[in-house]
Amino acid sequence: MFILYGVLIKSQKMCSFGCGKEENASHIFYECKLAAEVWQQILIWLNISSVLHNTALSNFIQFKGLVANGRVRRFSVIWYACIWILWKGRNEKTFKDKNGSSETWFEGVKLLSWKWLTSKLQGFKYTFNQWSLNPLAVWV
Ligand SMILES: [Zn+2]
Repeated sequence: MFILYGVLIKSQKMCSFGCGKEENASHIFYECKLAAEVWQQILIWLNISSVLHNTALSNFIQFKGLVANGRVRRFSVIWYACIWILWKGRNEKTFKDKNGSSETWFEGVKLLSWKWLTSKLQGFKYTFNQWSLNPLAVWV
């Protein structure tokens, strides 16, 4: 019945990004080529060399651990922004057939994390340009 109404189709079990692999949380957020490229660009942006876990909790704990204490809360915003951007990208593709790219999503992570920090963290007065050019320098 759901198939008749277009609610559930066989291809929904496959990755929304069209890589041909089965879609699950680990795949969408970490394993799919597009997601992995976004995470890789974030690590390069942060000047960190690492291979990240492919499950949410392990990935989050590892990601927070990549920086010294005192920066963790702010640093976590980048992780949340990335998850949100990937989820939105997945839904845009699934429900609107709108393609995204790892470059666009990476820029989205930078912008969204800056917006969240600017609006929620008192004392965070950096411009987007400062944030974008060197996010680790603005932690001081
Ligand atoms: Zn995929």
